[in-house]
Order: sequence, then structure tokens, then C-alpha cells
Amino acid sequence: MNAQVAEALDGVQNRLYIGGEWTDSDGGATFESINPATGETIAQLQAATRTDVNRAVVAARDAFEGAWGKTPARKRGRLLWKLGEALRANLEQVALLETLDNGKPIFESRYVDIPLCADIFQYYAGWADKVHGETITVNAPAFDYTLREPLGVIGAIVPWNFPLLLAVWKLAPALAMGNTVILKPASETPLSALKLAELAHAVGFPPGALNVVTGSGAVVGAAMVEHPGIDKIAFTGATDTGKGIMRSAADTIKHVTLELGGKSPNIVFADANLEAAVKGATSGIFYGKGEVCAAGSRLFVERSIADEFIDRVVERTRRLVPGDPLDPKTRLGALVSKRQMETVLAYVQIGKSEGARLRVGGEVAMVGNGNGYFVSPAVFDQVDNSMRIAQEEIFGPVLAAISFEDEEEAISQANRSPYGLAAAVWTRDIGRAHRVAHRLQAGTVWVNTYNRYDPAAPFGGYKSSGFGRELGVHALQYYTQVKNIWVDLSG
Ligand code: NAD
Repeated sequence: MNAQVAEALDGVQNRLYIGGEWTDSDGGATFESINPATGETIAQLQAATRTDVNRAVVAARDAFEGAWGKTPARKRGRLLWKLGEALRANLEQVALLETLDNGKPIFESRYVDIPLCADIFQYYAGWADKVHGETITVNAPAFDYTLREPLGVIGAIVPWNFPLLLAVWKLAPALAMGNTVILKPASETPLSALKLAELAHAVGFPPGALNVVTGSGAVVGAAMVEHPGIDKIAFTGATDTGKGIMRSAADTIKHVTLELGGKSPNIVFADANLEAAVKGATSGIFYGKGEVCAAGSRLFVERSIADEFIDRVVERTRRLVPGDPLDPKTRLGALVSKRQMETVLAYVQIGKSEGARLRVGGEVAMVGNGNGYFVSPAVFDQVDNSMRIAQEEIFGPVLAAISFEDEEEAISQANRSPYGLAAAVWTRDIGRAHRVAHRLQAGTVWVNTYNRYDPAAPFGGYKSSGFGRELGVHALQYYTQVKNIWVDLSG
């Protein structure tokens, strides 16, 4: 084990965190976490079973009805704030874990993912004691009022692309509102969730408020979705997995929120600040290796500037060379797994066979020991929006550039997608910017920028990209339920 891996794993438990204790899985089975930059195993993790999920549900329920449920809202807020502080104090180690597990550049983990996790905990710390009911005027001699109560036990199931961040999007509002949580990280990237459990324990969260169970989606995730003792599943992942979760959750009438896939349009008009738009077009798709649900994977360019603009995007892409994720200068890391690399390479072939023109990239890149999963960033032009590379989510560094004639065509082509997660429009015409933003079917529309997030700004999908909203005040309604109380005053 090299020094950086040892430093990252120092003190990190590779067991399940249930009811405030570290335990082995019931079956004793384990699975490996692999560093995608080297292909080397970095840790052995416990593969939880249905019995372990049952144990976690009992612990979470006990905490909901006991210690956590009885913790006053302001104190819950203070604990969330402390957890944010603890993340900042451990930023280097958590960032290192994230990069080793996922392959993303340390630049991203250190300056984006983990600081944002801390910000989100602290943003929701402030909400903990600010959500309340209302008094209602009814047509009777009665005093009617509402309470906003937590849902109970939340099952959070998250993917591997932003392992800690997407977990925190769920945990922070859920815990702020007084729910307890069972978190299942993706099996590719379980380490930062285990570190978070350790920090939550250290700052004083009571046993059972947060539980972490590692293992496969097919066993652990499915057991959570089916479990009658879990009140809600908050899921981020692939659209097909989300469909299955919705079907399965029906049996126990669970609340469900789904954040699913995307194929987001990034629309550039001729009157835009082209320098900024070129940067936005490339970072919009290649940030996070393109393994970003909101990635701007379809680039629409107004025909009058298309040739020149795409040339500039290609030129910029050529300079984006995959490198060692641990090198602070690296801006494009390793894809998360061999399987993901093979999917991306297969789509490059599909794009070629569909008649799109591959301008740059799309090849395996040799970095470090040569066993990592690196692919050079790819740009296709002469793409038609009906091609598979424009309709299917690749979830990797592959850009499909499409030209359009006018505003009407840009909007109709952009909306011709089963997905509706995000979109962007680049123009100096303020009327057009808003007009287009209003007509795009997407949960987020960026104007003259891309991939911008804030704890206060809601995020979520239209159409097959899911439903429910994360972040902001909007997330709170998905972790609470309204109780109406009617007090008769006639007597
Ligand atoms: P995935 O659906 O395969 O896995 C996501 C999580 O679900 C993992 O923890 C996995 O173990 C679990 N899971 C798998 N099968 C399950 C089952 N039958 N029951 C319960 N849980 C199960 O997705 P992935 O490959 O890890 O992630 C990539 C996908 O996530 C992409 O489609 C991407 O667009 C999407 N994503 C969406 C957002 C968003 O906010 N909308 C953010 C990131 C990623």
C-alpha cells in the first residue's frame, strides 16, 4: 500500500455502522473497493445482508422514537453544524478517500465536493428550527392548525459519481427535520460514507440517527426498498434502477424521491460571449469525467458559428489530457470502473457507426501504471439529435455537437429527449435567455454558465430524470409530512 492510500485509510472503519456501533456483516462476506486510477484494491468492505438491513432498521426506528426524535430542533441544528465543521477539519483525508475510490481529480474533491458537503450540512443546520406549521381558518367554531412532522426512517441510496455529496444532499435535510437515516453508498465508492459515520459519531449524533450499510444494490438496496420499516427511499442513480425502485416501493406505500439520469442540452447562440461559451461547453461535459448526471452532453450550436465554435471546443478538448487524479494539476481523472470505461468506449464506436464525426479523443489513455480506466475526452460533430449518442446517457467524457438554425429549432431539439435534468443557454440577448429558459423542459437551466450548484438552489428532474427536489428549502417538504389538528371550540 503506498503512502497516500495509507494516509487516506488511516482510522477508516471498513465495517457496517449500525446503532452507533461498528459491526461485521451477518454473512461475513466482503467485497473490494478498487482505485480506478491503478486497478489496485484499496480496501475490503463488509457486504451487508437482509439481516443487517433489518438490524439497521431497528436501530434507526429506535433512534427515531427515542434519542434523535426527542432531540430539540435547535440541538439537531447544532449537531449538523458541528458535522460540517468536522468535515472541514478532515477535508484532506476525506478528499483523498473520494479521489482514491472514484478516480476524480483531487482538485475536484478538495475544492468542490467536500467543501460543498460541509456547506450543505451547515445550510440545513439553519433550517432545523425554522420549519413550523400554520393556523388555518375553517368554517366552524374550531381552532385548526398544522404540524410539520418528520417521515421517520429514511433509506438513502446513492451512486458512485459524487459519493459523499449526493449522500449529504439527502442526509442533511432528512436529519435536520428529525428523521433517522440508513445510508447505502454505491459499492464502487463506499469509503467516504464510512468516514462520515465516524465523524457523526465523534460530534455526538446519538446511536441510530445515522447508519451506514455497505454492499450491493441487488441485496442491500433491494432489501431497503422492500422493508416495511423504512418510510421513504431517497434515491439517486440510473433511470432503470429508479423505475424498479418505484415499482417495489409500491408494495409498502413508501415515499420515494428519484434523481435519475440526464442528457442535458447546452445551447449556444451566435450572439453569446463565445470565449466563455467554449469554456462552458467543455467543462459542462468534461467536469467530473462526464460522469455527472447534469453533464452538458448535447451541445447545440447556432449554424452560423457552428464550424468555428466546434473547432475551438475541439482545440480546448485536445489540451485536456487525462492524468493521475492525485496530481493537483490534473483536471480529468479516471473513469470509475472498467465496466464504465467499456461502456464509454462502446458508445464511441456507436457514434462512429451512426455516421457522426469523431473530431478528437475517445481512446484509452495510458496513465501511471497503465492499469487504470482512463479515456481521452471525445467530441463528435455532425451529430443528429436522433442518434443514440444524442439520446442515450453515456455518463462519460463524450460530447455530441449538433447545429441548429434558429431559436425555435434549438428549443424543440433540446426538448426532444426522454430526460429533463438540466440545460443551459448562452446568449447576450436577455429576452431570449429567459424565453428559452422558460420553454426548456429541465429542472435547472443555467444562463451563460454551467454546472453551478449552491446549497440553497433546488435541483431535480423533469420527465425521466425523476421527481422531488434536493437542496434548498424545497427539499424539506420531501422529508416532512403535514398533520392537521382540529380543535372543536363550540362547547
Ligand atoms: P445505479 O442505479 O446502478 O446505482 C445507484 C445506487 O443504487 C447504488 O448504490 C446501487 O448499489 C443501488 N442499486 C442498484 N440496483 C438497485 C436495486 N435493484 N435496488 C435498490 N438499489 C439499487 O446507478 P450508478 O451506475 O451507480 O450511477 C449512475 C447513474 O446515476 C446515472 O444514470 C446518472 O445519471 C445517475 N445520477 C443521477 C443524478 C441526479 O441527481 N439526477 C446524480 C448522479 C447520478
